[in-house]
Amino acid sequence: MVISPSEFLRALCDHKILFETGVDGIYGRGGSFERALLGFEGLLTTRMAPDHADLLRFPPVIPRRDMETAGYLSSFPHLAGSVFSFTGDEAEARTLGSLAKEHGDWSALQTQTEVCLTPAACYPIYPWLAAQGAVAADGRLIDVSSFCFRHEPSDDPARMQSFRMREHVKIGTQSQVEAWHSGWSERGADILRSVGLETTEAPASDPFFGRTGRMLAANQVAQGFKLERSYLIAGSRPTPVMSLNYHHDHFSHDFDLKGPGGEPIHSACVAFGLDRVALALFSAHGLDDTKWPADVRGHLGLDELP
Ligand SMILES: [Zn+2]
Repeated sequence: MVISPSEFLRALCDHKILFETGVDGIYGRGGSFERALLGFEGLLTTRMAPDHADLLRFPPVIPRRDMETAGYLSSFPHLAGSVFSFTGDEAEARTLGSLAKEHGDWSALQTQTEVCLTPAACYPIYPWLAAQGAVAADGRLIDVSSFCFRHEPSDDPARMQSFRMREHVKIGTQSQVEAWHSGWSERGADILRSVGLETTEAPASDPFFGRTGRMLAANQVAQGFKLERSYLIAGSRPTPVMSLNYHHDHFSHDFDLKGPGGEPIHSACVAFGLDRVALALFSAHGLDDTKWPADVRGHLGLDELP
């Protein structure tokens, strides 16, 4: 039975799998949701362990300067989240406090801070790597995971504003990155299949802003720089649950990343939308996770998790 995204959201909330907060796309996660998500992330950890990636974690905010350098505000101004705070005096604080209490407009009393909300788990990697010096001759493979933010309020539970993303990021020469990239679509399909999610692959583009953005998106599709694996969670359009992104030497130019001979380096990432995978599991196997197929529960380690 195909139900609409908003009907699916209602069912998830009725079963205490998600909790609404009053803002579209911002949800509390109940125990069964969190166990499914952590189970899948654990499965990813196991399946990616032979790659020996360097484990790296950043908080869900990035320096504003890095967001600017990456050109995010040119490509995705509509999705960016910027952090503002208060730097005024006591009289202004009183005005702020009473305006806020009345749910009035207190934005004029805020000033921009040095941080923005992380838009994708791999963004902090590139400035970090540039600060480490030249990339080694055999390249780097880095494991990152983060809560990410995109300002796109929606009543589709698969389009959250704040969500978790687990990535592997490969950095190296064009041939190293292409070799790494080429195996991942099938590998991702196999991991998702092991928990009962049969996905479809399609070329894709990022949600660039405006008319120039439509051209950038068309180029991205034509060059095959982005592939997505999707699953029909609800409604009529499958939702991407995994993406494979080849950045070419884009971040090398933004952040002055260099190989051992001073040459620009290439990068690519594979990203799993962890909250979307959890939603896909509830869509595929039902809202009662105790009744999921034994092999799916086994691969997710659900019988071992608290
Ligand atoms: Zn990425």
